[in-house]
Amino acid sequence: MRYISTRGQVDNISFKDAVMMGLATDGGLLLPEKIPLIDAQQLDAFASMSYAQIAFAIISRFTGDDFPAAELRAIIERSYASFTHAQVTPVVAKDGIHILELFHGPTLAFKDVALQLLGNLFEYLLAERDSKMNILGATSGDTGSAAIYGVRGKERINIFIMHPHGKVSPIQEMQMTTVTDANVFNLAIRGTFDDGQRIIKEVFGDLEFKERYHLGAINSINFARVLAQIVYYFYAFSRVCGSSDKQIDFAVPTGNFGDIFAGYLAKQMGLPIGRLVLATNENNILERFVNAGDYSVGAVVETLSPSMDIQIASNFERYLFYLLDRDSTRLRRTMDEFAVTHRLDFSTAIRQRIGDDFVAMCVDTQHTLAQMRDFHSSCGYVLDPHTAVGVHAGKHFQRDGVPMVCLATAHPAKFAAAVEQAIGQPPQQPQSLQGIEQRPRRCQLVDADTTIIKNYLAENAI
Ligand SMILES: *Cc1c(COP(=O)(O)O)cnc(C)c1O
Repeated sequence: MRYISTRGQVDNISFKDAVMMGLATDGGLLLPEKIPLIDAQQLDAFASMSYAQIAFAIISRFTGDDFPAAELRAIIERSYASFTHAQVTPVVAKDGIHILELFHGPTLAFKDVALQLLGNLFEYLLAERDSKMNILGATSGDTGSAAIYGVRGKERINIFIMHPHGKVSPIQEMQMTTVTDANVFNLAIRGTFDDGQRIIKEVFGDLEFKERYHLGAINSINFARVLAQIVYYFYAFSRVCGSSDKQIDFAVPTGNFGDIFAGYLAKQMGLPIGRLVLATNENNILERFVNAGDYSVGAVVETLSPSMDIQIASNFERYLFYLLDRDSTRLRRTMDEFAVTHRLDFSTAIRQRIGDDFVAMCVDTQHTLAQMRDFHSSCGYVLDPHTAVGVHAGKHFQRDGVPMVCLATAHPAKFAAAVEQAIGQPPQQPQSLQGIEQRPRRCQLVDADTTIIKNYLAENAI
């Protein structure tokens, strides 16, 4: 399998090179040249396979001959052995729908599914190339801790994660700073998440520095992350439907368009998905895109589901590439226009096609809280606020006779304040959080200054 960039200036690179490249060198996003197909017979066989076996069947279609099968299998097995549930991402039937629990990884959010795999892929590829990597990332909470857990203790990798001091939730902060492995550097910056992103841009923009220190990124533009997320759509189908003549619908709480784009690819691969429900909070640029052909950037508002408080969805360009019939020239023109005007409008013909791919709903704070409350009182199950956004939209679009699977993107204990606000009691603490307050922490408080961060990196780089 070969990989290409949405912007057309990178093509014919291997899966391994695509993983190491992250963002394409022409500024675009990498995609496989062809989308592999899974036939009905294979789909039927998934019903009796484990998560790791299904993951291998899917992922190996995208890696081609890049890995010996046994080695890829070992990487996958290692990645999901860190999950506390034997089924990795179990599906439970509750209150007339299905909940796909993606939060049994080390940091209790679905980002572990992708970042555990990416960490192990980096480790393998760096050893093979006798190279090393210094990962620099900025986080508003979930991604940073999942990335830290993805690479903690690994040789050849140091990771530097900036979070805005005092502006992430106490649990998110503890999840990051209690990882005291020698290769993990937590930086609390005196500033905002936007300051962190600005520093990232400036540091990565210094190409000489980037090369000298082998800088790597962990944001959601790496295709391996999308790939890991395709797997659980197939897994859910295998457990809920089993046989290939049935249909399934999914509801996806959406921010950066990564998770739902993986569902879109699963459908292109032949998974019989009827509806893909795109659910947003009040930051609804993607809902407006689907329902009105209006992709225009508004101001970010703070909600109960902070991991979806996003206006510019970094994976959107991947979908746009298919929407524009893989025309890189047109895509480049469209993205250039967007960079200037911060908005895109789509014709009726294109809107029709978007409507064939997705249905969408914006779920506000009131409805999110009500959904958490109703769900808890009808079946005793506690939803985290991100998942509740998806469940609300999923119920709205549910059809007779077609199972609706709602992706549960975080454990409720991660967002305890919102849970307590909704149901009047705190969520149960999973094992991994018990006693976390007492664990030793390591974190450096620094000014939000690019030169200071660069100096820190230079001193501590591997
Ligand atoms: C990141 C995140 C999302 C949004 O996923 P995208 O792939 O960015 O659309 C939703 N819920 C939680 C808990 C998250 O951490």
